[in-house]
Amino acid sequence: MKPELELQLERCRSLPTLPAVALQVLKLCQSDEVDMQELARTIGRDPALTAKVLRVANSPLFNMRREVTRLSQAIVWLGVQSVRTLALGFSLVQDIKTADHQGFDHARFWRRSIVSAVVARELATHMGLGSWEETFLGALLQDIGMIALAHATESPWGPAPQGEVRRMSHSRLIAAERAAIGSDHAEIGAWLARKWGLPEPLQAAIAQSHKEHIDELQGHPEATGVARCVALSGWLADIFVEEDIAQATEVVRARAMTLLGFDQEALTPILGRIAEGLPEVSTLFEIKLGSEREIAGILDQAREALVMLNLQSDHRASRAEKAISDLQLHTLQLQERSDRDDLTGLFRRNRMEEFLLHEFNRSTFLKKPLSVMFCDIDHFKNVNDTYGHQCGDEVLASVAGLLKRDLRDVDMAARYGGEEFLVALPGVDAREAALVAERLRYSVERSSPASTQKGLRVTISVGFATLSEPGRYPDPAGLVRAADEALYKAKRTGRNRVIGSEHFLHAVCA
Ligand code: GH3
Ligand code: MG
Ligand code: MG
Repeated sequence: MKPELELQLERCRSLPTLPAVALQVLKLCQSDEVDMQELARTIGRDPALTAKVLRVANSPLFNMRREVTRLSQAIVWLGVQSVRTLALGFSLVQDIKTADHQGFDHARFWRRSIVSAVVARELATHMGLGSWEETFLGALLQDIGMIALAHATESPWGPAPQGEVRRMSHSRLIAAERAAIGSDHAEIGAWLARKWGLPEPLQAAIAQSHKEHIDELQGHPEATGVARCVALSGWLADIFVEEDIAQATEVVRARAMTLLGFDQEALTPILGRIAEGLPEVSTLFEIKLGSEREIAGILDQAREALVMLNLQSDHRASRAEKAISDLQLHTLQLQERSDRDDLTGLFRRNRMEEFLLHEFNRSTFLKKPLSVMFCDIDHFKNVNDTYGHQCGDEVLASVAGLLKRDLRDVDMAARYGGEEFLVALPGVDAREAALVAERLRYSVERSSPASTQKGLRVTISVGFATLSEPGRYPDPAGLVRAADEALYKAKRTGRNRVIGSEHFLHAVCA
């Protein structure tokens, strides 16, 4: 908070103060051994407050099995913490409600605060927090800074006319405060709570009451839980307070998830329980929250909005899924395209190396053979020199076409170098590899690739090697090297022939 603003608040004489009875109750409850009799006497001095505490003790909120008629009895049965909370809450609401300030929409303010308190109590119970009291008070007082602002500053909600301010949603109010005074009512509320000497977790919960996400306070899981429930309570209360129920429900849906991890399944029954608790609290605090029928109507609209929101998000999710799968497909297609050589449409060398590594390991593991063969066009330089480079390209594409035609789906052919092709034949032993190679050699020899060039004959030499037993070659590169050596031999011994690295077939000459 800016120092000028703090000074302004310090100087303001009409800031909300802690009522005398609340102050005393707070002091009494701070000691380790609370003097129950003294507590009862203190509250008993305020007849209106006493009546309310007794009424709460007998209300369905607490499910007491017997009627509670005396304050001391209520303190024992409700517990000191609950009584402290009620005394603080009731006396504060009573005091501040009457200290009216021009231009401030008290009715709306208290509706939100009280509904928030009911909500917070429900959330605290649902989350299994040890005590609901801190959460209840935190929610009740989360917006108390607004009253301080209305008293201490000129126009805390900016230049907008009063009528417009009264219609602003809570998040718009916060934004307007930030713009006008560089702070917001949560910060000021926490400041006030500190001045009043309220417990620290309560101050922290008020300070964080508008946060969308609250980090775990290390070592203080209870205080973290309180702060999260308080932060959600105001937005949930807005469903019962704001005009635009659907809009308020949408905000709650998002915040319930980020703050407490609630999905619609968890949210819907909580909404129902809140609605049930409202009439009783409305009477206790003497704040109009609407008739039971009106509350039921609001609840219906909120449930409907939740269903609609879920349908929309399902729709969005399925659209997103489709977009992702389209994208994946597109990426795959792009990948496939970049893996292939433009001229021949065969895979490029790096893709072949990945494939070989995979197949090499697979063959070793399964003890299945793997053959590789190099096919190299004979005297290809002459083709280029005699018929031109374009004709040379046609020859390359046509040999690649024959490779594609003659190979099985599980095989892979790649353009390894300029006019050199490498073929991988998983599961194929040396004898079969020799047959495949020979068939290919023969196909090329028989074909007339460059149709425009009469008399052009093309042949290939093939060298192959087979991984016939595990460990025969140390790695795929060793196997490829062996095939390359066999090819070299085929070239040296006259070309247009097939040579296997194991020399047991081969030398099939044209
Ligand atoms: P050998 O029988 O010993 O294999 O003789 P060769 O002429 O086929 O082998 P060499 O390695 O001497 O020549 C290969 C030629 O292939 C040289 C190069 O210009 C040509 N070449 C490489 N890539 C392409 C290409 O994409 N298109 C065309 N048209 N020619 C290419
Ligand atoms: Mg060649
Ligand atoms: Mg060559």
